[in-house]
Amino acid sequence: MFVKAHNPLLLAVLCAAVLLLAASVSADGLRGIRSHQAPDYTRLVLDTQAPVRYELFTLDNPSRVVVDLFDVTAVRGFDTDVLSSNRDVKNIRGHARGNGYRVVLDMNRTLTPKHFTLAPVAPYGHRLVVDLVDATAKPARPPQAPKQNRDVLVAIDAGHGGEDPGAIGQGKVYEKQVVLSIAREIERLIDAAPGFDAFLVRTGDYYIALPDRTRIAREQRADLFVSIHADAFKSSEVTGASVYTLSNSGATSEQARWLADRENASDLIGGVGSVSLDDKDPLLAKVLWELSMDASQASSLAAAESVADELSKVTKLHKRRIEQAGFVVLKSPDMPSILVETGYLSNPSEARRLSQREHQRKVAKAISAGIQAYLKAEPPTGTLLANRSSSEPRRYRIEPGDTLSEIAMRYGVSTRALRSANSLANDRLRIGQVLVIPTS
Ligand SMILES: [Zn+2]
Repeated sequence: MFVKAHNPLLLAVLCAAVLLLAASVSADGLRGIRSHQAPDYTRLVLDTQAPVRYELFTLDNPSRVVVDLFDVTAVRGFDTDVLSSNRDVKNIRGHARGNGYRVVLDMNRTLTPKHFTLAPVAPYGHRLVVDLVDATAKPARPPQAPKQNRDVLVAIDAGHGGEDPGAIGQGKVYEKQVVLSIAREIERLIDAAPGFDAFLVRTGDYYIALPDRTRIAREQRADLFVSIHADAFKSSEVTGASVYTLSNSGATSEQARWLADRENASDLIGGVGSVSLDDKDPLLAKVLWELSMDASQASSLAAAESVADELSKVTKLHKRRIEQAGFVVLKSPDMPSILVETGYLSNPSEARRLSQREHQRKVAKAISAGIQAYLKAEPPTGTLLANRSSSEPRRYRIEPGDTLSEIAMRYGVSTRALRSANSLANDRLRIGQVLVIPTS
């Protein structure tokens, strides 16, 4: 929380608990400190009036992180309340030092600081970000062990978070909040279905870099990756939900390209400093990527169709066709991935609806139904869903031009077995007739 001097009531309430630090007059100043707690790191954000020159170092016994801000003399005060949900930082202190200001973080444990500055993005201004990372941390959720009859696992990724608010609609509707509550509801619904398991990639108000989102899902061995958004467009007229898949070869519409650019900029907004998606061996990665692209793109499209079908029952679709665009967050060729735009916060009435709990539930229910329908139709091998559907007899509906021998060949069974399983006296077929396919 930041102490707003123009709100005397709030200030009065906070004064008792709050440490106000010395202030002098200068154009450049430290305006406040905020904290985000992610499962595997702590982020402290120093809001500054202008881009800041700084130096950062650590001290031991007791463990401290020291940030020297140069040419910063005006300190509007900060609030140690920001540490109330912080596991790692015990206290924040500060004092003027020469031409600048020194901030000292007293640590509960020794962590590795990573630091960088961020340019303004509404509602935030210039920021210096200090991430305190536990390099020895294990994943919060142990990956599912490969076993027979396992649950199908769905990764639900609520877009943006922390320093990246995403789109902001009228009435201060923040995309990062809307999508997290929709994602939570989807997770709950999928978890409740037998044979299904879901987990949230982002569980709170903190930022995760785009490549890390799919990495987390892959580490958990997710069968499907679903990224949830509620974005904005330059025109407030635009409304409706859309479902996207990744395209390697350019976006299918100007809007898809525009959105992809926006989402991809998220890393610069949310803060991973300089963004590098390069693997150790970019050439090899590219070859592997293109080899596996086709299969996963077909599955992604099928998943997207299924989700769009269900969404169309509860909300207007922006376009019926599945759009394709080059989203970084979907670049995971080994895992079918889709991105759902639940609506446009740039449209005032859609922003209002998306902020309402009831509409969020409806949207979540539709997305969850679409995901389940897709995974039931194309269950990953080794899952309970796959084993269930393989113990049921397969069926085939006759289409014009079908012959018995060709169907037998397609399913790898003999024409005789096909004939006897369906009590056929001869090889004549009727269009629309349903054949039971015997197990070979
Ligand atoms: Zn978004």
